[in-house]
Amino acid sequence: MPGAPLTEAERARAFALPKKPAVIERQRLAVRYHVEDFDVRDRPRRFLEAFAAILKHTNYRVALDHYARISTKCARCAVKCQIHEATGDDRDIPCWRSELLLAVYRRHFTISGILRGRILGDPGLTDETVAEMADTFYDCTACRRCHFECPMGVDHGLVTHLGRYVLSEIGIVPRALAVSTREQLLGASGNTSAIPVPALLDSLEFLSEEMQDEKHIAIPFPVDQEGAEYLFLPAVSDFIMEADSLMGIAAVFRATGDSWTIGTGYFDGINYGLFYSDQVLEHVLRKVRAEAERLKVKKILIGECGHASRSAKHFYPMFCGGAEALPVLNIMEYTHRAWREGRLRLNPDVVTERVTYHDPCNVARPGWIVEQPRELLKAFCRNYVEMTPNRRDNICCGGGGGTVSIDEIRPYRTAIGGRVKADQIRTTGAEYCVAPCANCKKQLRELMEDQGMDCKIVGLHDLIYKALVLD
Ligand code: SF4
Ligand code: SF4
Repeated sequence: MPGAPLTEAERARAFALPKKPAVIERQRLAVRYHVEDFDVRDRPRRFLEAFAAILKHTNYRVALDHYARISTKCARCAVKCQIHEATGDDRDIPCWRSELLLAVYRRHFTISGILRGRILGDPGLTDETVAEMADTFYDCTACRRCHFECPMGVDHGLVTHLGRYVLSEIGIVPRALAVSTREQLLGASGNTSAIPVPALLDSLEFLSEEMQDEKHIAIPFPVDQEGAEYLFLPAVSDFIMEADSLMGIAAVFRATGDSWTIGTGYFDGINYGLFYSDQVLEHVLRKVRAEAERLKVKKILIGECGHASRSAKHFYPMFCGGAEALPVLNIMEYTHRAWREGRLRLNPDVVTERVTYHDPCNVARPGWIVEQPRELLKAFCRNYVEMTPNRRDNICCGGGGGTVSIDEIRPYRTAIGGRVKADQIRTTGAEYCVAPCANCKKQLRELMEDQGMDCKIVGLHDLIYKALVLD
């Protein structure tokens, strides 16, 4: 999907360093994202110690052993990467990026690498390589599209995640992610947007009043309902940013009559651990488990959010009970099933605009949630069009892997990360682009603004709210 080539002015703006020279010098880190001050001494040694500890306590070694042996450096992965397509730079070839970490693994954690290092006097990991990894691992959105193209099965999203994990253990992590996670795990509010419970309750009451005015029917947001079927956890930012998505979800439950609840003990689906730290991933999921047990619910229901859904679906069983863990599902699965069972009526005369659908990488790439939203949209949007490519081969919004939360790299995200996505959306001529993910919504709205486009970015339940027939 070739688009307009990157101009020199766009490139300069996208790669501009927003940090003060004094900070760069102090942190010895010329990356575009802000980092809290950390111990810069002896970084290579500390990086290797952290890497060794992670290898010892996890099973990453199995994948790394395989990747470190088989890579053919054929660069086929490059054709699937929207970052490389936008920049054309060799350093954005997925394999080039992964090779930074794989070379460290080969040199320091395999017998042949250690022997060769001794015989040849190779000092191994340098401070420059640590800085290079800190830069490039946050250029990748961990969308994993390149994974499908690699004949050897190298998963660059996994390598990016691991590289970020090791870096985070020595203090190199985007401040935006670190601050939000600290508030979620240690702060008074216990969530990434620092929303106190009274503000949450106010917001829910306000939304119910809005729905009463618009639909002339009482549509509640149940709170702390012990024994409910579903514990609902959206990306917590939805409570501030995505009123229409939340109202659509509440309206769906009003139509089905199933029991659901929001828990005041914990109500944040966001899990930035998926982006940079397995420790964070685990601790966030333990908070979900504690709330599910407090309220004695039967299922975990994640809102319109790709990474929140994937982190819970794939890792909740791992960290919270194995085969005994509560089932996890995404709200699109719930709504789709209710519609298939004939419990939802959608008026096909309400949404007449041209509508397209953006597949969030975290739910589409594994083939998990692909057709369900399409079937729903086609049921009531007469002017539905696909963007190309789509489904499991979708192109990332350009803000994946947590990068959307890093406001200081917005010029990079919208000029480079989302460049191909903007072309894709433009080609459809759609007036609505449905993006059922909190991260994708934010990124795509910024993308539309920065690329001078007027397609409206909405959630799936935003449109369902318009079309749902309530008795
Ligand atoms: S496609 Fe696979 S083997 Fe080829 S360069 Fe990329 S990662 Fe390496
Ligand atoms: S995971 Fe996505 S952004 Fe990262 S290298 Fe692969 S295609 Fe590019």
